[in-house]
Amino acid sequence: MTARLIDGTAAAKKHRAELAVQIAAHKITPGLAVVLVGEDPASQVYVRNKSKAAEEVGMKSWTYVLPTTTTQQQLLNKVAELNNDPTVHGVLVQLPLPKQIDQQAVIAAINPAKDVDGFHPINIGRLSSGLPSLVPCTPQGCMILLREALGDLAGRKAIVLGRSNIVGKPLAQLLLQADCTVTMAHSKTRNLADECRAADIVVAAIGNPEFVRGDWIKTGATVIDVGINRIADMENAGKSRLVGDVCFAEVSQHAFAITPVPGGVGPMTIACLLKNTLQAALAH
Ligand code: NDP
Repeated sequence: MTARLIDGTAAAKKHRAELAVQIAAHKITPGLAVVLVGEDPASQVYVRNKSKAAEEVGMKSWTYVLPTTTTQQQLLNKVAELNNDPTVHGVLVQLPLPKQIDQQAVIAAINPAKDVDGFHPINIGRLSSGLPSLVPCTPQGCMILLREALGDLAGRKAIVLGRSNIVGKPLAQLLLQADCTVTMAHSKTRNLADECRAADIVVAAIGNPEFVRGDWIKTGATVIDVGINRIADMENAGKSRLVGDVCFAEVSQHAFAITPVPGGVGPMTIACLLKNTLQAALAH
Protein backbone atom coordinates (compact mmCIF):
# COMPACT_ATOMS: atom_id res chain seq x y z
CA MET A 1 0.00 0.00 0.00
CA THR A 2 1.24 3.49 -0.77
CA ALA A 3 -0.35 6.19 1.33
CA ARG A 4 -2.20 9.18 0.02
CA LEU A 5 -0.20 12.36 0.63
CA ILE A 6 -1.92 14.99 2.79
CA ASP A 7 -0.69 18.17 1.14
CA GLY A 8 -0.35 20.82 3.87
CA THR A 9 1.08 23.40 1.48
CA ALA A 10 -2.00 23.23 -0.78
CA ALA A 11 -4.40 23.18 2.19
CA ALA A 12 -2.68 26.19 3.76
CA LYS A 13 -2.80 28.09 0.47
CA LYS A 14 -6.54 27.44 0.25
CA HIS A 15 -7.12 28.57 3.84
CA ARG A 16 -5.01 31.72 3.38
CA ALA A 17 -6.97 32.63 0.23
CA GLU A 18 -10.24 32.21 2.18
CA LEU A 19 -8.88 34.43 4.95
CA ALA A 20 -7.94 37.15 2.45
CA VAL A 21 -11.53 37.12 1.14
CA GLN A 22 -12.94 37.33 4.69
CA ILE A 23 -10.62 40.20 5.64
CA ALA A 24 -11.62 42.16 2.55
CA ALA A 25 -15.33 41.46 3.20
CA HIS A 26 -15.12 42.70 6.80
CA LYS A 27 -13.23 45.83 5.69
CA ILE A 28 -10.82 45.54 8.64
CA THR A 29 -7.05 45.43 8.94
CA PRO A 30 -6.12 42.81 11.54
CA GLY A 31 -2.79 43.66 13.18
CA LEU A 32 -0.25 41.02 14.22
CA ALA A 33 2.76 41.94 16.38
CA VAL A 34 5.56 39.39 16.61
CA VAL A 35 8.32 39.73 19.21
CA LEU A 36 11.60 37.89 18.80
CA VAL A 37 14.23 37.91 21.55
CA GLY A 38 17.72 36.94 20.45
CA GLU A 39 19.26 35.68 17.24
CA ASP A 40 18.23 32.04 16.92
CA PRO A 41 18.38 31.46 13.12
CA ALA A 42 15.37 29.08 13.04
CA SER A 43 13.26 31.57 15.01
CA GLN A 44 14.32 34.38 12.66
CA VAL A 45 13.04 32.34 9.69
CA TYR A 46 9.74 31.51 11.45
CA VAL A 47 9.16 35.15 12.39
CA ARG A 48 9.91 36.36 8.85
CA ASN A 49 7.53 33.77 7.36
CA LYS A 50 4.74 34.72 9.79
CA SER A 51 5.00 38.45 9.03
CA LYS A 52 5.15 37.85 5.27
CA ALA A 53 2.11 35.54 5.36
CA ALA A 54 0.15 38.09 7.44
CA GLU A 55 0.79 40.88 4.96
CA GLU A 56 -0.11 38.66 2.00
CA VAL A 57 -3.66 38.17 3.32
CA GLY A 58 -4.20 41.89 4.03
CA MET A 59 -3.07 42.14 7.65
CA LYS A 60 -0.65 44.65 9.13
CA SER A 61 2.34 43.09 10.83
CA TRP A 62 5.04 44.42 13.08
CA THR A 63 8.20 42.55 14.05
CA TYR A 64 10.15 43.60 17.14
CA VAL A 65 13.62 42.08 17.46
CA LEU A 66 15.02 42.51 20.99
CA PRO A 67 18.63 41.68 21.97
CA THR A 68 19.52 38.33 23.60
CA THR A 69 20.35 40.26 26.79
CA THR A 70 16.77 41.59 27.15
CA THR A 71 15.55 41.32 30.74
CA GLN A 72 12.22 39.81 31.70
CA GLN A 73 10.94 43.26 32.74
CA GLN A 74 11.91 44.78 29.39
CA LEU A 75 10.02 42.04 27.56
CA LEU A 76 7.01 42.41 29.87
CA ASN A 77 7.03 46.15 29.14
CA LYS A 78 6.96 45.43 25.40
CA VAL A 79 4.06 43.00 25.84
CA ALA A 80 2.15 45.60 27.92
CA GLU A 81 2.71 48.21 25.22
CA LEU A 82 1.29 45.84 22.55
CA ASN A 83 -1.61 44.82 24.83
CA ASN A 84 -2.56 48.50 25.05
CA ASP A 85 -2.25 49.26 21.33
CA PRO A 86 -5.73 49.14 19.75
CA THR A 87 -4.31 48.56 16.25
CA VAL A 88 -2.63 45.33 17.44
CA HIS A 89 -5.10 42.42 17.59
CA GLY A 90 -2.61 39.57 17.92
CA VAL A 91 0.55 39.40 20.05
CA LEU A 92 2.99 36.56 19.55
CA VAL A 93 6.24 36.14 21.48
CA GLN A 94 8.40 33.68 19.56
CA LEU A 95 9.57 30.76 21.72
CA PRO A 96 11.99 29.62 23.03
CA LEU A 97 13.12 32.62 25.07
CA PRO A 98 16.63 33.20 26.49
CA LYS A 99 17.19 31.50 29.85
CA GLN A 100 17.01 34.68 31.98
CA ILE A 101 13.34 35.06 30.99
CA ASP A 102 10.50 33.07 32.57
CA GLN A 103 8.52 31.85 29.56
CA GLN A 104 5.32 31.19 31.54
CA ALA A 105 5.37 34.69 33.05
CA VAL A 106 5.58 36.23 29.58
CA ILE A 107 2.79 34.04 28.16
CA ALA A 108 0.60 34.93 31.15
CA ALA A 109 1.24 38.66 30.55
CA ILE A 110 -0.24 38.60 27.04
CA ASN A 111 -3.85 39.79 26.93
CA PRO A 112 -5.76 36.46 26.43
CA ALA A 113 -7.91 38.17 23.77
CA LYS A 114 -4.72 38.90 21.77
CA ASP A 115 -3.02 35.55 22.51
CA VAL A 116 -2.99 34.28 18.92
CA ASP A 117 -0.65 31.40 19.85
CA GLY A 118 -3.36 30.17 22.24
CA PHE A 119 -0.82 29.41 24.99
CA HIS A 120 -2.25 31.66 27.75
CA PRO A 121 -3.59 29.62 30.72
CA ILE A 122 -7.03 31.18 30.16
CA ASN A 123 -7.14 29.99 26.56
CA ILE A 124 -5.79 26.56 27.53
CA GLY A 125 -8.42 26.33 30.30
CA ARG A 126 -11.22 27.41 27.97
CA LEU A 127 -10.09 24.84 25.38
CA SER A 128 -10.07 22.09 28.02
CA SER A 129 -13.55 23.15 29.16
CA GLY A 130 -14.91 23.08 25.61
CA LEU A 131 -15.46 26.87 25.57
CA PRO A 132 -14.64 29.16 22.61
CA SER A 133 -10.98 30.20 22.74
CA LEU A 134 -7.93 31.01 20.67
CA VAL A 135 -6.71 27.49 19.85
CA PRO A 136 -2.96 26.72 19.53
CA CYS A 137 -2.01 26.88 15.86
CA THR A 138 -0.18 23.60 15.23
CA PRO A 139 -2.87 21.37 16.83
CA GLN A 140 -5.55 23.38 15.02
CA GLY A 141 -3.69 22.77 11.74
CA CYS A 142 -3.46 19.03 12.47
CA MET A 143 -7.23 18.88 13.02
CA ILE A 144 -7.97 20.65 9.73
CA LEU A 145 -5.72 18.22 7.85
CA LEU A 146 -7.28 15.21 9.59
CA ARG A 147 -10.81 16.38 8.79
CA GLU A 148 -9.87 17.06 5.17
CA ALA A 149 -8.40 13.55 4.89
CA LEU A 150 -11.01 11.60 6.88
CA GLY A 151 -14.15 13.69 7.28
CA ASP A 152 -15.90 12.88 10.56
CA LEU A 153 -13.43 11.71 13.21
CA ALA A 154 -16.01 10.44 15.73
CA GLY A 155 -15.26 7.07 17.26
CA ARG A 156 -11.77 6.75 15.82
CA LYS A 157 -8.90 5.67 18.04
CA ALA A 158 -6.18 8.34 18.07
CA ILE A 159 -2.76 8.32 19.68
CA VAL A 160 -0.74 11.49 20.25
CA LEU A 161 2.99 10.99 20.74
CA GLY A 162 4.30 13.90 22.82
CA ARG A 163 2.63 15.85 25.65
CA SER A 164 3.99 19.38 25.28
CA ASN A 165 1.79 22.36 26.14
CA ILE A 166 2.08 23.71 22.60
CA VAL A 167 1.31 20.57 20.59
CA GLY A 168 0.52 17.27 22.32
CA LYS A 169 -1.81 18.34 25.13
CA PRO A 170 -4.00 20.79 23.17
CA LEU A 171 -4.18 18.35 20.26
CA ALA A 172 -5.43 15.60 22.58
CA GLN A 173 -8.17 18.01 23.76
CA LEU A 174 -9.20 18.77 20.19
CA LEU A 175 -9.30 15.07 19.26
CA LEU A 176 -11.42 14.41 22.33
CA GLN A 177 -13.80 17.21 21.32
CA ALA A 178 -14.02 15.55 17.89
CA ASP A 179 -15.22 12.38 19.72
CA CYS A 180 -12.05 10.36 19.16
CA THR A 181 -10.87 7.88 21.79
CA VAL A 182 -7.52 9.38 22.69
CA THR A 183 -4.30 7.88 24.02
CA MET A 184 -1.52 10.27 25.05
CA ALA A 185 1.97 8.81 24.82
CA HIS A 186 5.25 10.23 26.09
CA SER A 187 8.78 9.20 26.91
CA LYS A 188 7.66 6.93 29.78
CA THR A 189 4.98 5.10 27.76
CA ARG A 190 5.48 1.33 27.70
CA ASN A 191 5.06 -0.72 24.49
CA LEU A 192 4.73 2.38 22.34
CA ALA A 193 4.76 0.40 19.09
CA ASP A 194 1.80 -1.71 20.28
CA GLU A 195 -0.08 1.42 21.38
CA CYS A 196 0.45 2.92 17.91
CA ARG A 197 -0.63 -0.31 16.16
CA ALA A 198 -4.02 -0.05 17.89
CA ALA A 199 -4.70 3.46 16.53
CA ASP A 200 -6.64 4.69 13.49
CA ILE A 201 -4.89 8.07 13.78
CA VAL A 202 -1.26 8.50 14.82
CA VAL A 203 0.12 11.98 15.48
CA ALA A 204 3.85 12.22 16.19
CA ALA A 205 5.12 15.35 17.97
CA ILE A 206 8.25 14.31 19.84
CA GLY A 207 11.24 15.88 18.09
CA ASN A 208 12.99 12.59 17.35
CA PRO A 209 13.96 12.03 13.68
CA GLU A 210 12.17 9.15 11.88
CA PHE A 211 11.30 7.53 15.22
CA VAL A 212 7.94 6.00 14.23
CA ARG A 213 8.55 2.92 12.08
CA GLY A 214 6.43 1.27 9.40
CA ASP A 215 5.48 -1.82 11.42
CA TRP A 216 4.05 0.41 14.20
CA ILE A 217 1.23 1.50 11.88
CA LYS A 218 -2.01 -0.40 11.38
CA THR A 219 -2.86 -0.88 7.70
CA GLY A 220 -5.13 1.99 6.66
CA ALA A 221 -4.30 4.33 9.57
CA THR A 222 -3.78 8.06 9.05
CA VAL A 223 -0.48 9.57 10.18
CA ILE A 224 0.21 13.22 10.99
CA ASP A 225 3.89 14.05 11.39
CA VAL A 226 4.42 17.25 13.40
CA GLY A 227 8.16 16.78 13.95
CA ILE A 228 10.72 19.05 12.30
CA ASN A 229 14.24 17.66 12.63
CA ARG A 230 17.36 18.71 10.75
CA ILE A 231 19.70 15.80 10.01
CA ALA A 232 22.83 15.31 7.90
CA ASP A 233 22.03 14.57 4.25
CA MET A 234 23.90 11.34 3.46
CA GLU A 235 23.53 11.92 -0.29
CA ASN A 236 24.95 15.48 -0.18
CA ALA A 237 28.09 15.69 1.94
CA GLY A 238 28.14 18.74 4.23
CA LYS A 239 24.43 19.45 3.62
CA SER A 240 21.45 18.85 5.88
CA ARG A 241 17.79 18.07 5.28
CA LEU A 242 14.52 18.19 7.21
CA VAL A 243 12.76 15.03 8.34
CA GLY A 244 9.79 14.43 10.60
CA ASP A 245 9.31 12.16 13.62
CA VAL A 246 7.98 9.47 11.27
CA CYS A 247 10.01 7.26 8.94
CA PHE A 248 8.11 8.38 5.84
CA ALA A 249 9.50 5.71 3.47
CA GLU A 250 8.33 2.87 5.75
CA VAL A 251 5.12 4.34 7.15
CA SER A 252 3.77 5.38 3.76
CA GLN A 253 3.72 1.65 2.86
CA HIS A 254 1.18 0.95 5.64
CA ALA A 255 -0.85 4.12 6.11
CA PHE A 256 -3.98 5.25 4.28
CA ALA A 257 -2.79 8.88 4.37
CA ILE A 258 0.27 10.71 5.69
CA THR A 259 1.64 14.27 5.94
CA PRO A 260 5.10 14.90 4.48
CA VAL A 261 7.89 16.90 6.15
CA PRO A 262 8.34 19.56 4.93
CA GLY A 263 5.01 20.53 3.36
CA GLY A 264 2.62 18.99 5.91
CA VAL A 265 1.75 20.46 9.27
CA GLY A 266 4.24 23.38 9.09
CA PRO A 267 2.38 25.51 6.51
CA MET A 268 -0.93 24.89 8.33
CA THR A 269 0.56 26.27 11.56
CA ILE A 270 1.06 29.67 9.91
CA ALA A 271 -2.38 29.59 8.25
CA CYS A 272 -3.96 28.96 11.67
CA LEU A 273 -1.98 31.83 13.19
CA LEU A 274 -3.55 34.13 10.60
CA LYS A 275 -6.96 32.59 11.30
CA ASN A 276 -6.52 33.32 15.03
CA THR A 277 -5.44 36.90 14.28
CA LEU A 278 -8.60 37.49 12.24
CA GLN A 279 -10.68 35.88 15.02
CA ALA A 280 -9.06 38.22 17.57
CA ALA A 281 -9.63 41.26 15.34
CA LEU A 282 -13.30 40.39 14.78
CA ALA A 283 -13.82 39.93 18.55
CA HIS A 284 -12.14 43.28 19.29
P1 NDP B 1 8.83 19.06 23.30
O1 NDP B 1 10.29 18.77 23.34
O2 NDP B 1 8.29 20.19 24.09
O3 NDP B 1 8.04 17.74 23.74
C1 NDP B 1 8.39 16.51 23.22
C2 NDP B 1 7.43 15.47 23.77
O4 NDP B 1 7.77 14.22 23.15
C3 NDP B 1 7.52 15.26 25.26
O5 NDP B 1 6.22 15.13 25.81
C4 NDP B 1 8.30 13.96 25.41
O6 NDP B 1 7.91 13.16 26.51
C5 NDP B 1 7.91 13.23 24.15
N1 NDP B 1 8.94 12.28 23.74
C6 NDP B 1 10.25 12.54 23.52
N2 NDP B 1 10.89 11.42 23.15
C7 NDP B 1 9.96 10.44 23.13
C8 NDP B 1 10.00 9.04 22.86
N3 NDP B 1 11.14 8.45 22.53
N4 NDP B 1 8.85 8.34 22.93
C9 NDP B 1 7.69 8.95 23.27
N5 NDP B 1 7.58 10.26 23.56
C10 NDP B 1 8.71 10.99 23.50
O7 NDP B 1 8.47 19.20 21.75
P2 NDP B 1 7.33 20.06 20.98
O8 NDP B 1 5.99 19.52 21.30
O9 NDP B 1 7.60 21.49 21.13
O10 NDP B 1 7.71 19.67 19.47
C11 NDP B 1 7.70 18.35 19.01
C12 NDP B 1 8.18 18.33 17.58
O11 NDP B 1 7.26 19.07 16.78
C13 NDP B 1 9.54 18.96 17.34
O12 NDP B 1 10.20 18.28 16.30
C14 NDP B 1 9.19 20.38 16.87
O13 NDP B 1 10.21 20.94 16.05
C15 NDP B 1 7.95 20.11 16.08
N6 NDP B 1 7.05 21.25 15.96
C16 NDP B 1 6.55 21.50 14.72
C17 NDP B 1 5.68 22.53 14.53
C18 NDP B 1 5.12 22.75 13.16
O14 NDP B 1 4.62 23.82 12.88
N7 NDP B 1 5.17 21.75 12.28
C19 NDP B 1 5.30 23.42 15.62
C20 NDP B 1 5.79 23.01 16.92
C21 NDP B 1 6.66 21.96 17.06
P3 NDP B 1 8.14 13.62 28.06
O15 NDP B 1 7.05 14.63 28.31
O16 NDP B 1 7.94 12.36 28.83
O17 NDP B 1 9.50 14.19 28.14
